[in-house]
This record gives sequence, structure tokens and C-alpha cells, in this order.
Amino acid sequence: MRIPSNISFLRDLGIFRIWPGGIQARLYLLIALVMLPMALLLGWTNYQHYRSLRRIELQTEVEAAKDVADVFATFVQGIQQQLITVGQAILTFSPYTPAKATKLLTDAASKLEVVRDLSMLSPDGTVLASSLPSLIRTNLAFHPYFKEIHGGRTWILSDLYSSNDPHQASTFAIAMGVRNENGSLLCVIVAELGVENLQGLKLIPARTGSGKMEIFDRQGTLVHANPDSSLTWEQRAQRRADDALLRRVLQTRQEQVGLLTGNGEEDQWIAARVPIAGLDWVVGAARPERIAFQPLRKLLIQESLLAGGMILGAFLLASVLARSISAPIQRLEEDAQTLGEGRIIARDDLGAPAEVNRLRLRVTDMATALIQAKTTAEDANRTKTEFMANMSHELRTPMTVIMGSVEYLQHIETETTKRELLGFVYDAGQRLLAIIDDLLDFSRIEAGRLKIVDVEFDLAECVRSAVEMFAKRAEEKGLRLTWAVHPLLPSRIKGDPHRLGQVLVNLVGNAVKFTEHGEVSVRVKKHADHLLFVVRDTGIGIAASHVDLIFQPFTQVDGSMTRRYEGTGLGLAICKDLVEMMGGTIQVTSREGQESVFSFSLPLRPATGKASGD
Ligand code: ADP
Repeated sequence: MRIPSNISFLRDLGIFRIWPGGIQARLYLLIALVMLPMALLLGWTNYQHYRSLRRIELQTEVEAAKDVADVFATFVQGIQQQLITVGQAILTFSPYTPAKATKLLTDAASKLEVVRDLSMLSPDGTVLASSLPSLIRTNLAFHPYFKEIHGGRTWILSDLYSSNDPHQASTFAIAMGVRNENGSLLCVIVAELGVENLQGLKLIPARTGSGKMEIFDRQGTLVHANPDSSLTWEQRAQRRADDALLRRVLQTRQEQVGLLTGNGEEDQWIAARVPIAGLDWVVGAARPERIAFQPLRKLLIQESLLAGGMILGAFLLASVLARSISAPIQRLEEDAQTLGEGRIIARDDLGAPAEVNRLRLRVTDMATALIQAKTTAEDANRTKTEFMANMSHELRTPMTVIMGSVEYLQHIETETTKRELLGFVYDAGQRLLAIIDDLLDFSRIEAGRLKIVDVEFDLAECVRSAVEMFAKRAEEKGLRLTWAVHPLLPSRIKGDPHRLGQVLVNLVGNAVKFTEHGEVSVRVKKHADHLLFVVRDTGIGIAASHVDLIFQPFTQVDGSMTRRYEGTGLGLAICKDLVEMMGGTIQVTSREGQESVFSFSLPLRPATGKASGD
């Protein structure tokens, strides 16, 4: 492979040695090299897309839990507001009576449907007044929330505790300490709520699938879920111990999101823990990762399939392109082989890239010219060999006649026989002379040494003398031999009478030679500004396949040694050259077995009378 010098450093690095050999293989390698980074890039982009969607999905869990935390905090604030109103109203009682306080608490509780009861406790925990009469005079100082208020806190949202009433199992309280200016505790206002009061408030939106969203107190006891199950307080408290996922969610201190493993399951959960602002309670949320990320996985698969399809499509397209380049080159290689074997191929368009097409046409033209030249040379060589054989035969025949006659002459006494034998010798000599004349003329023409003279001469006389040379032969063969010059033609013209005569002798000689019956005619007429000579015979004719060949030197329709008609195959070639040298053209039409018509034209140049005679 030739490597341009400007990239010779690549050759020094040995790059071309590791490239595969064929164009197609190289194109495929090139495509693969282009596709690979594309595929990697697409894969990486897809993965990044998946990861960012995953992050969004995880964050969604926190947002959902935050929403619930906000809603719950607002709900508690609403109740706190009511407690403030009640506390302030009680402080304005003057004088204070338990009956008035009870009425106020009962009215407020009936307006606040979500609370189970509203009570006012003395600083030692005794219920002084309550919307629930059974509570009056009971002591609630044992409740941790009371202890905290007693200890100085203004507000408290209690943990879930088990109510004494078996029908109202799980309860929690919102308590507010009412103090004088010195900070001494005057009373405690307590609102008790049952978990059943939270039902129907739609604090937690319904979740799809097995998703969880639950509110827990400080101890991690389940307070509320949607839908809430009718668990006892103990069951609610126990959940923390039983549920490993819940334990892990609650163990995390801060707002957190992450993937946690569930209760002995293989599945992972997206879990979020969000503290409810100012209340020490938390919202825990969890969704199985398998379900949450399912649409993402689908998307990833879709994107990957799409990217894969695109790469495959691009690869296929590139392959078709590679083929469209390499296939014509392969075809070119096959064509070169065909041409190398000497067979000519069609000059058709392969539909290949323009450069390959042009290259193919150039190679085809060049090889076709070479093949044709080779064929012509081979033909010429064969024809010449044939000619040599024929010529030897042609020379030998009259020589045999001469030698035989001369030998016979030595023993012959009678004058008549002697004259007859001398006639044979003369004829054979004439024949030899004619052959030698043909050879001389042909070699002179080939060497460009044959001169055409330009003199004035008698046209009819020239035709007559040429035709009459064959009168005897025609008569012997029983042929009608006629000639005519159109009467309106000038009798004297300018030209080379000797060469014109030579052409006519050749054509008439052939016509007589190749005709067995019928006639041979010579006509001269005017055709435009030319003289037209037509030699017609009713002889054997010439096969269409040979018509184009007979004007070539050394060519005979029958070139075999066993042929019927003598001759050298030079006559018509000389005629053609002579006619063309005299400024005319020659052609033949023939019907095999019927007739041949040789016609040639010469420029008509009437004599002026000034030139010297013929
Ligand atoms: P040759 O000396 O063999 O006649 P030519 O060049 O004069 O050579 O003619 C070439 C060949 O053309 C002949 O051998 C013959 O086959 C064919 N030919 C020429 N003239 C005629 C004709 N009038 N009729 C049929 N065949 C002819």
C-alpha cells in the first residue's frame, strides 16, 4: 500500500500494519470506531438521566411526608388556638365558679368536634371542670404531659397513651399551662383526642400500592395512618419493636431519605423521616423501591432500546454505504481480471461513486484498446502468414508452367506446338509480372512513394482498354462484357489514366474471375461533381460478414490453400489506396450468390486543353 508522505509518521508508528486489509473491512472498522464513543455517550447519558430521575423520586417521598407534617402541625395549632381562647375566658371569670367553667368547656368541646373532651386541671392535677363529667375530681397528675407542664413547659403534645375507657383505647392530649404574671401555674387546660377522631380528617392522603405514610409520637408509637387500622394502644406501641423498617426509619435523627431494607424482605424501600415542626412527633413514609422505580426502569429500558436501535440503524446504514463503496471496487477487480483474460466488458455505469465509475471507464477503454490492438496484430500476423503461403503458391504455379514448357520445348520439333508452348510461357510470365507489379505497388503505397500524375486523357479510351483486356477471357467463360460512358460527360478529363486503368483492370478482372454465368458491366456517369464508376457482375457475390474485410490487404474471402480462385488478396487494397490518393472513395454492395457491385468516385475535372497529352 502506498502511503502519502505527509502521513508517513503514521507509517513509522506502524498504524497501517494493524489495519485490516480490505476496503470493506477498513470501512467497518472506521464505522465501529465512530459508533463506539457514540454508544458509550448514549449509555452514559441514559444512566445519568436515570440517576437524576431517581433522585427526584426519592425527594418526592420527603416532600409527601413534609406535606403531611405541615397539615398535622396546622391541625394541632388549630386546637391550641381554641385552648388559648378557653384559658383566657376562664381567667376573666369573676367570680370563678366550677359550673361556669364546665359550661364553657362543654360548649368549646362541642364546637371542636375532633376533641374527645376538654378539661381544666388544678395545679395539683385534679380535674376542676370538664366537658366529660366522669373526669371531674379525678387526678391526672400521673400523666407525663402534666408533669412536663408542671415542670414549666407551656405547651405539650402528649405521647399516645391507653385510656382507662376500654372503648376509647388510644388517646393523646394537647395540654396548656395557664400562669399568672409571676409564672405560677394557675391551671392546666387539656384537650384529649382519640385516634378515632383523626379518621376522616384526611390528614394523610391515600397512597397507592403498598406505600406507607404514618404519624408517630415521640416514643415511636403509631398514632395515625391512612387508612388507619383499629389497633389497640399496645399493638400500636408494639409495632416499633416488630417492624424493622419502621425502627430504622425512626432511628434516624434528622429529616432523611434513603433506601432501607424491609422486614426480612429482599426488597428495598424508599423511606423518609420528617419531624413535625415544634411537636417532637415524626412522619414516616415508605414505598417499595421496586414499585417506585418501575416507571424509571421502563424509561431506562425504552431509552436504551431506542439508543440501541438508533446505533443499529446507523450501523446498518453505514454498512450499506460501505458496501456501495466497496462493492464497485470488488466489481472493478473482477472486471480487471476479465480484461486481463482478454475479454472485453460492457462500458456500463455501475452506479458506483463517480471516481470509481471514471476509473472503471478509463481502465475499460485502455484495456479494450489494448485487446483490440492485440487482436488486430494477431489477425494481421495470421493474414500475412496466409498471404505468404498463397503468394508462394501463386508464384510457383506460373513458374511450374514456365519450367515445364521450356523443358518440353527442347524435345519438340513442330512449329505449331512450339508456338503454343511459348504462348504458355508468355502467359505465365505475364501472371508473374502482374503479381510482382501488385507487390511493388503495394510496398510503394505503404512506403508513401507512389506518385499520382495529373494529365489530360481520353476517359472512354481509358475505360475501353481496361475492359477489353478481359474480352477474350469473358468470351471463353460465356460472359457478356459491356461498358459505357455517359454521353454527356466530357470526353477528355484530368487525372492519372494509368492508375485509373489499374483500378478498373483490377475490378473488371475480379468481376470476370468470380462470375461463371451472366454478365459483367462497367458504367461511368456523373454524380454531383464526381465521376462515378460502377462495375457490376452476376457472380458468386460476397458474404455480408466479409464485405468490410475485402479492402484490407492480404485478405480473401476464401484464404485457404485449397481455394478455387487464384489471387494475392492485394488487388482491392491497392484499388482503395489508389482511389483515395486520387481524391475519391470506393465501396461495394453485394448479394451472395447473385451479384457484386463495386463503385468508386473520382473528382470530375474536365480537361482545359492546356496540359500536355496522355
Ligand atoms: P485477389 O487477388 O485475391 O482477387 P483482391 O484484393 O482483388 O484479391 O480481392 C480480395 C477478395 O475479394 C477476393 O479474393 C474475393 O474473395 C473477393 N472479391 C473481390 N472481387 C469480387 C467479386 N467481383 N465477386 C466476388 N468476390 C470478390
